[in-house]
Amino acid sequence: MNTAPRPGSPTGLRDANRRRVVDAVRAGGAPTQAEIAVATGLAPATVSNIVRDLGAAGLLTAGDEVRAGRRVRAVRLVRGAGVVAGIDVGHRHLRVALADVADPSAAAGHPEPPGRSELRADLPDYHGVAEGLATAASLIDEALAQAGIRREALRGAVVGLPAPVDRATGAVGASGVLPGWIGVPVAGRVSEHLGVPSWVDNDATLGTLAEQRWGALREVRDGVFLKLSDGVGAGLVLDGRLYRGPDGTAGEIGHVAVDPGDRHAAVCRCGHRGCLETVVSTRTVTALLEPLVGAPLTVAEMVALARDGDAPARRVLADTGHHVGVALAGFCTVLTPRRIVVGGELAQAGDFLLAPLHAALEAAALPGTTRTADVVVAELAEHAPVLGALALALDRATTAP
Ligand SMILES: [Zn+2]
Repeated sequence: MNTAPRPGSPTGLRDANRRRVVDAVRAGGAPTQAEIAVATGLAPATVSNIVRDLGAAGLLTAGDEVRAGRRVRAVRLVRGAGVVAGIDVGHRHLRVALADVADPSAAAGHPEPPGRSELRADLPDYHGVAEGLATAASLIDEALAQAGIRREALRGAVVGLPAPVDRATGAVGASGVLPGWIGVPVAGRVSEHLGVPSWVDNDATLGTLAEQRWGALREVRDGVFLKLSDGVGAGLVLDGRLYRGPDGTAGEIGHVAVDPGDRHAAVCRCGHRGCLETVVSTRTVTALLEPLVGAPLTVAEMVALARDGDAPARRVLADTGHHVGVALAGFCTVLTPRRIVVGGELAQAGDFLLAPLHAALEAAALPGTTRTADVVVAELAEHAPVLGALALALDRATTAP
């Protein structure tokens, strides 16, 4: 279920054109086929074929209307065409969100993204697939019930995982990053569990997609999205396209060694020593302060301490930003992104983290390459991965028929 057409293939082109038509209908309300052709740059005959095909699939409907005294044929998304689910699996949490296929806010560039029915649950550390999927299914049922939507209306689901994902098989890469899920064909398991077509992708990649569609990477041709949470990852936009790499492992910045030669550096779950994630994951960062506070600390509490002027909290956040900046400097030198978007739980720290991050970038990267890269907080905050899962599920729902 996870097999995605390659972007340049005939199927990839057909799907891309279908997405453009559907997006033009979402954004335009009820455009005519001529207006869709103008908005998408597609030939009128192509638009006509797509409207016919998606009409047969129950997604679009074309009907006669009178506008300004003229009879026109307006194209609309079919209300009740169904909903899709986005699922974001973290190391210690899970989020789900739903979006109506016909929701106008699903249009790229819409100021308010879809998926307002988001629900969240905590998961035990090192949970397995069965536990994660059972939690996801029950949260989806709860979200559907809250929204008054029948289960049969669910058309598809996308799962984001904090691990490399093989796009061809949908299996989690065997790198130890998400131990309970290694080698499992997650998409197939989700399909069995929910009874709908399902796909799986890396969570940082999905966060990047959401920020590209509805957030801080809109109209950015070269950018980086950083997810700084328990897991640390990045997504890349290169020349306007989301770059996954051949086997889904592009952007694994959490496993860039920041100090591989240090014998005392922590051993990472990937098997290396001194990975960025061992230094800046939320659990590491909060653990630095817990002995001083004398209690378990959340990221929000740590940021509140920093805002209140607490020197140790500010120090820990500044060091965290510095380490991320050092690891990013190589990216910036090689790829020259124009914008770096900081997401994940640590994005709450704002300038306590971003200012030292930017300073470390400036100090370590090749002079000139970071001068034009701005460093900003993700607009979609910690919701970016689940919204990206929704974005991909909406794409699949409109192209799969
Ligand atoms: Zn590692």
